[in-house]
Amino acid sequence: MANDGKTFDLIVIGGGPGGYVAAIRASQLGMTAACVEAEKLGGVCLNIGCIPTKSLLTSALLVNEVKKAEQHGISTGEVSVKLGPAQERSRRVAAQMNKGVGFLFKKNKVSHIQGWGRLAGDGKVEVETEDGTETYSAKHIIVATGSRPRSLPFLEVDGEKIWSSDDALFQEDAPETLAIVGAGAIGMEFADIFEAYGSDVTILEALDRVLPVEDHEISAQMEKAYKKRGMTIHTGARLEKAEPGDDGVTLTFKDKDGEEQTLTVDRVLSAVGRVPNTGDVGLDAAGVELTEKGDFVQVDEWMRTNVDGVYAVGDCAGGALLAHKASHEGIACVEKIAGEAHGPVDYGNIPNCTYCHPEVASVGLTEEQAKEAGHDIQVGKFPWVGNGRAVAHGDAEGFIKVIRDKKYSEILGAHIIGPHATELIAEFVVGRHLETTAEEMEKAIHPHPTLSEAVAEAALASLGRAIHI
Ligand code: NAD
Repeated sequence: MANDGKTFDLIVIGGGPGGYVAAIRASQLGMTAACVEAEKLGGVCLNIGCIPTKSLLTSALLVNEVKKAEQHGISTGEVSVKLGPAQERSRRVAAQMNKGVGFLFKKNKVSHIQGWGRLAGDGKVEVETEDGTETYSAKHIIVATGSRPRSLPFLEVDGEKIWSSDDALFQEDAPETLAIVGAGAIGMEFADIFEAYGSDVTILEALDRVLPVEDHEISAQMEKAYKKRGMTIHTGARLEKAEPGDDGVTLTFKDKDGEEQTLTVDRVLSAVGRVPNTGDVGLDAAGVELTEKGDFVQVDEWMRTNVDGVYAVGDCAGGALLAHKASHEGIACVEKIAGEAHGPVDYGNIPNCTYCHPEVASVGLTEEQAKEAGHDIQVGKFPWVGNGRAVAHGDAEGFIKVIRDKKYSEILGAHIIGPHATELIAEFVVGRHLETTAEEMEKAIHPHPTLSEAVAEAALASLGRAIHI
């Protein structure tokens, strides 16, 4: 279709990792594509999510390494740390990645329409800009509008004393005392950052463990590691109210024994989940159905909504709120539109990564889930202390756990806590994608000495014959 600047084969609303990747893939497949974005290209992930937090976590890790410098023969004197420069660095990192998406759009001839997009029915998208509203049309429209932090009525984010994750990213100083409500990925990552920069951190989690989506043993090891760093953790804690005052914020909660406790801290970070941006994008007017629970866009396996030619990918379509899941949905959706589908997204093989220290990563079933699903399993655990590279690195806390189905030796789940967990998990992801067995994971020769050897040893452990334990 000729591109008159107003008519496209595909318009994507939202320029995050779901939307911008879909637009690029569409262009590769010969479609004319545009991406409407009100803020910055790259969305939450690149600008106020995954990327700047990884920059800050890199800084936090370095802070903790510097504290151990003496054992490497490096004398630093007393180490003093300031969050401000690390925060500024994180902005430069985000800006560089954001520019990169602009470059990719130019290279792939994707039109970037700056403004707030809304479905207007009949293949039309209205874009509100400072100069007024323009209407565009497309045969196919993908809604990829993402999500935003959830604010609870008894913990209302004010951006000053009670922060959302967006606010936490822009702090120049670490408060003396910080309470974090919610021990999911966001809560645990910011706990790592602020503790490294000097905050006295208390974590309140409603469920009975930190990182509740992970395997029980991973949660237990994580809690131990954070407590060793001096953090206070209350699991099974039900927050009842948060009262900002002159001295900070007073939190009232019921602890796991049902006792009422109060805690006064300088600042509170609310990290209690995210909600989809499905309110003001014209879904209602276009007749697009939302899920009964949570107001996500209702989609099928090819990301199609109930309205012909309208699709949704990423956080706004529900499921795991993860950038890599969003990108894969965008690609699967566009390839299906182009008649070049390679299969829908494999939701059973999406890795989970938390980039705190120690790092946590997993794919597939937890031990509990595998048992519940009726598998006859064998579980192997390989501790990092058995791996020379980890010990040399000075980072040998934690383990790799592999859950194997005894019938065909399929790897049902893999769980890593420890050095470079978020990189190493990819080995299990590829293995599972290729339907490998635990035996094959081990037979593939891993170089020595590397952290990756522990992956092979954990596979061996699930066969009951690890060498180095
Ligand atoms: P989450 O849903 O993963 O965790 C929120 C936690 O808050 C839960 O454990 C919940 O039990 C707890 N909680 C809820 N209400 C509470 C209350 N009143 N008192 C105490 N605890 C309470 O959400 P998140 O950590 O905010 O992250 C949001 C989404 O973004 C998640 O889907 C997450 O996977 C994704 N994310 C991923 C990464 C990553 O992959 N590294 C990083 C950031 C965010």
